Amino acid sequence: MKSSRRGFLASVVGLIPAVGLSRFAYGAADELAESDPSAIALGYRADATKVEKAKFPKYLAGQSCSTCQFYQGSASDQVAACPLFNGRSVRGSGWCNGYAPKS
Ligand code: SF4
Repeated sequence: MKSSRRGFLASVVGLIPAVGLSRFAYGAADELAESDPSAIALGYRADATKVEKAKFPKYLAGQSCSTCQFYQGSASDQVAACPLFNGRSVRGSGWCNGYAPKS
């Protein structure tokens, strides 16, 4: 009995790094969908030109995730993590109401 519990614990502990690594390895698969409630709340669009300008008047033509200070990739990266969406990936061509230009 004791050894099966030990075996169970060993297998659970062994899974932790695998889960963590799979999240890292498939980071791009964890891309934020426009239909996600948090994306809707902040008006996120993968294509900044499709932003609902009447609802989000802060948007100015030419702004995009790739020039936002929260964008975790380089300006040339097509996809990168955004801390406003819990580290999920957003499109460099995207935009949301949290936009803040890089200084
Ligand atoms: S905070 Fe910036 S990088 Fe993140 S989704 Fe909004 S505009 Fe894009």
